[in-house]
Amino acid sequence: MFADLHLHTNFSDGTYTPEELTAHAKRHGLGAVALTDHDTVDGCARMAIACEKEGIEFISGSELTAELNGNELHLIGYAIDTQNPKLLVEMAKFQSVRQNRIREMVSRLNKLNIPLEADAVFAIANCQSPGRPHVGRALVQGGFCATLDEAFERFLKKHRPAWVPKFKISAMGAIALIHQAGGAAVMAHPGLNRTDDAIPQLVAEGLDGLECYHTKHSPATSEHYLALAHRHQLLVTGGSDCHGMNKGKPLIGTIKLPYEHVRELKSRANAIRQTQMQPAQGH
Ligand code: AMP
Ligand code: ZN
Ligand code: FE
Ligand code: FE
Repeated sequence: MFADLHLHTNFSDGTYTPEELTAHAKRHGLGAVALTDHDTVDGCARMAIACEKEGIEFISGSELTAELNGNELHLIGYAIDTQNPKLLVEMAKFQSVRQNRIREMVSRLNKLNIPLEADAVFAIANCQSPGRPHVGRALVQGGFCATLDEAFERFLKKHRPAWVPKFKISAMGAIALIHQAGGAAVMAHPGLNRTDDAIPQLVAEGLDGLECYHTKHSPATSEHYLALAHRHQLLVTGGSDCHGMNKGKPLIGTIKLPYEHVRELKSRANAIRQTQMQPAQGH
């Protein structure tokens, strides 16, 4: 039995609905999946229902954009309580930052004589957690760019004219937020963020795992992070980071994580939940 623990829907910047994504998971024979939309858990309820109908095990999740020593890194909270009040309050803040950032990107495009309207982006996004791919799609739809790739290359990539930096929660803050919501904190695609030096510090702060298998990791990169996970006694996870049709073809099915890692992840999340439920020690 295999799992894919990194998936996005149209509740953030993926193109599939939770039901469509679940149908793809079924077609690829996956036995367990996690939904990891950016800065939201809004799609989890529907995905859980769709997965139950298909006999696929579902794990709730969200991918948070965090920062440590000036470097961006992505932390995924797995098996989090999607009703956790503090988590929902913080995520609402991240979402409002994202929405303001869309307005700022559009205003920069306007200054470049591209008459795009923020509402056009919000209409395409149709979710609380809009991001650059939605701006890119709006640029394509408005005829300003031929492809999403062109939109990123010309305008949206880091340091391109319409790029706006995003507020990021500190990595420590993200780990604490995930833990208090009863979830396990895993560093997503460490091979893409060059944050190896930060791993010991993050482990000390409670990091639970490393996403060793990812579509953009070479076999050597995966081996490297498997060794690091082993050295620091961290969970091993993996996922395709499928965003639906965003990148031309869906990535779901390209990563098949052996189920034993899911079992270990759930057992770690259970232990975290137990700790969170204990009354504070003190005199
Ligand atoms: P944001 O969270 O708004 O900064 O947007 C990040 C998202 O943009 C991630 O999901 C990336 O996968 C996506 N992305 C980055 N570069 C590209 C690209 N060249 N083409 C399509 N999507 C991209
Ligand atoms: Zn994304
Ligand atoms: Fe990511
Ligand atoms: Fe992702």
